[in-house]
Amino acid sequence: MIRVAFLKLTSCSGCLNQSLVALLSNEELLGKFEFAYFTELGLLTEDYFDILFVEGSVSNSKQEKELREFRKKSKTLVALGTCAVQGGIQSLRSGEDVEEVKKTVYPFPDKIDIYSDPKPISDVVKVDFAITGCPINGDAVVNFLRKYDVGGLPLILPESVCCECKRNGLTCVMVAQGTPCLGPVTVSGCGALCPSFQRGCYGCYGLRTWDLDKTRLEKFFDKLLKLGAPESMIQVIARGYGYRSYKYVRRG
Ligand code: SF4
Ligand code: SF4
Ligand code: SF4
Repeated sequence: MIRVAFLKLTSCSGCLNQSLVALLSNEELLGKFEFAYFTELGLLTEDYFDILFVEGSVSNSKQEKELREFRKKSKTLVALGTCAVQGGIQSLRSGEDVEEVKKTVYPFPDKIDIYSDPKPISDVVKVDFAITGCPINGDAVVNFLRKYDVGGLPLILPESVCCECKRNGLTCVMVAQGTPCLGPVTVSGCGALCPSFQRGCYGCYGLRTWDLDKTRLEKFFDKLLKLGAPESMIQVIARGYGYRSYKYVRRG
């Protein structure tokens, strides 16, 4: 049996729940894998794992130690969700005075042990595969397990949400309605969910940077601001969902 674990760090459990729902509707797959560690299901066997899925970013030294220990016990590690891959929405506090942030959010800030900047898990351990999204599409976990079962890994298409929009025959909300949309710079995988409801994408799958540089990105962000996008829309992708990519995107 292939042994699988799901570890949760700083996160909202949205990606774990998406995984669970998708897995529970695939009985044939459940029969091939042994779920050994999944705190939400009360499964807590910690010996070794063939596949370790990790949800969430790393917020303190205790989590960092736990992640390193789980990595040592696992053959393949999959970062699950934008928090794990990029740092996620909690990265919006990066660069701020962490003591002030704690005072704003918590009634007893002195009891909160957090780094000032959350870390994507690749800052701490080797990551073999990434499934992005906030939350992820649970089918991506099912696809990963199916491929793993036959000895491979899923193919990743390096494309933007716009490509999914076009394949699904959707009308572009930015062109047709002037609605600001981050789809052109956002990693695909959601099936263009927001444009299918006449909404602009706000970048929850993270920033697509492999063929973009900072100058082109900033020009695109300027266009969005001119279309009426709030500054917070740019901050959410540059400092939150796409935090890690934006930090390292090359200068134009
Ligand atoms: S990526 Fe989004 S849905 Fe998943 S754990 Fe993080 S905040 Fe929750
Ligand atoms: S609606 Fe957004 S994601 Fe879709 S094609 Fe237009 S810009 Fe791209
Ligand atoms: S369209 Fe954008 S914001 Fe909406 S689910 Fe997809 S990636 Fe996330």
